Amino acid sequence: MAKKIDYKRRPMPKQAPFERVKNFDEVALGYTEELARQEASRCLGCKKPLCVEGCPVGIDIPGFVECIVECRFAAGIKRIKEANALPAVCGRVCPQEDQCEKVCVLSKKGDPVSIGRLERFLADWEAASGHVEAPTKAPPTGKRVAVVGAGPAGITVASDLALLGHDVLIYEALHEAGGVLTYGIPEFRLPKAIVNREVEYVRGLGVELRTDYIVGKTKTLDKLLEEFDAVFVGAGAGLPWFLDIPGESLNGVYSANEYLTRCNLMKGFRFPEYDTPMKRPSRVAVVGGGNVAMDAARTSLRLGADEVHIVYRRSRIELPARLEEVENAEEEGVIFDFLTLPVRYIGDEHGWLKEMECLKMELGEPDDSGRRRPVPIEGSEFRLRIDAAVCAIGNSPNPLIPITTPGLEVGRSGNIVADEETGRTSRAAVWAGGDVVTGAATVISAMGAARIAARDMHAHLSKKS
Ligand code: FAD
Ligand code: SF4
Repeated sequence: MAKKIDYKRRPMPKQAPFERVKNFDEVALGYTEELARQEASRCLGCKKPLCVEGCPVGIDIPGFVECIVECRFAAGIKRIKEANALPAVCGRVCPQEDQCEKVCVLSKKGDPVSIGRLERFLADWEAASGHVEAPTKAPPTGKRVAVVGAGPAGITVASDLALLGHDVLIYEALHEAGGVLTYGIPEFRLPKAIVNREVEYVRGLGVELRTDYIVGKTKTLDKLLEEFDAVFVGAGAGLPWFLDIPGESLNGVYSANEYLTRCNLMKGFRFPEYDTPMKRPSRVAVVGGGNVAMDAARTSLRLGADEVHIVYRRSRIELPARLEEVENAEEEGVIFDFLTLPVRYIGDEHGWLKEMECLKMELGEPDDSGRRRPVPIEGSEFRLRIDAAVCAIGNSPNPLIPITTPGLEVGRSGNIVADEETGRTSRAAVWAGGDVVTGAATVISAMGAARIAARDMHAHLSKKS
């Protein structure tokens, strides 16, 4: 008898909005075993699974989902880890709605299978079981690889190459590994204990990690090339953009990078227990519409702000943030000011921010990105009373490595140029991938690029021997 199709996904239990804005604990609580098995049973186990094609790292999705149905959880997580070294992270923050879930056959008539939530379920099950199985490593090759940056791209390259038998050392500028997962994405969306767990897993594969080490300053990339057979650059896009409007140097105007780093990495929300102070603003405007903006707005609420606005120059449908995060922000009481453009910050006599002047916008013809261009409405100026503004309009790669590495080709926005098929850069024995190549993107795209580079690096290292 044909399987009865169930078009409704099982909802994810969450902390209630009025509770969660008072704490930094994780919002989404994860599926129970029963919910996970019910959700997994919805999968049709397609012969030609489109979901796998939609996954940038090609996880065997129907394979691991079937393991959940059959209660073979250890086998399920093993299947995921063959393609993804960070399942607990990806299960939480990947934009599945634009990737594997978008193309799931069930989405044609109903809800797609909740692939991300099921991935998270298995990763959390493994952590709770206390038994983390490491895949088998190839025998040592004697080749040494340096990785610059311990974000998702660097961690993926390191784990792939370590499994292939190479000796890998990661250099990380900050005092903790994880990249944006550690300093950017807040605790309530991605608990740091989970990032640490995934980093420890990679170290367990024999990867060495050296923190507080800035390549381009502590040592140049050329110096690394004297010691290593190959180098991968996964230095991310950590240079924040600003609006370039009057008043940007007033006290109370932050880049999202600084604001979130103070809170997440430096644990400013637990000051004075931790020694990084953090202003507790009461009226905040966050400028931008992506995941970073949602994170900054929701962080502000948890720091005790009375009113938090997202100020975005386009309309709701153009918001680049994940839908789930927009809904979470709305549930928590963030106010969305669409079609609004800040034009200047206004300070008091002591140099502290007190207002932001904005213009109302309307949508005109589509621009290069295909989205309708926002056009200012003349005479529509108004002021928003605020004591903190957080600029979350984008980032580009830090120029340090390109300017200290002669011959390393960079693109117009300062990104390192690397071949899409191989990750090779203009310098011999140097590969690059992730945000440093694409500009600010996603965790899984950084991991996908890293995987491609790892494959090519391995081929190169094998040839060399
Ligand atoms: P990064 O994560 O930036 O890691 C780069 C690492 O390199 C950093 O640790 C940095 O300190 C280190 N480094 C830099 N320069 C040097 C140097 N010279 N020497 C040594 N080390 C160096 N993506 C999603 O998919 N889903 C989300 O929900 C999501 N939310 C986000 C929220 C925020 C607040 C931010 C900022 C980003 C978010 N992203 C999200 C984007 C995602 O985190 C990034 O695309 C991803 O982390 C890129 O990985 P990466 O390894 O290329 O770079
Ligand atoms: Fe299951 Fe959807 Fe993938 Fe088909 S496309 S195998 S239904 S998750």
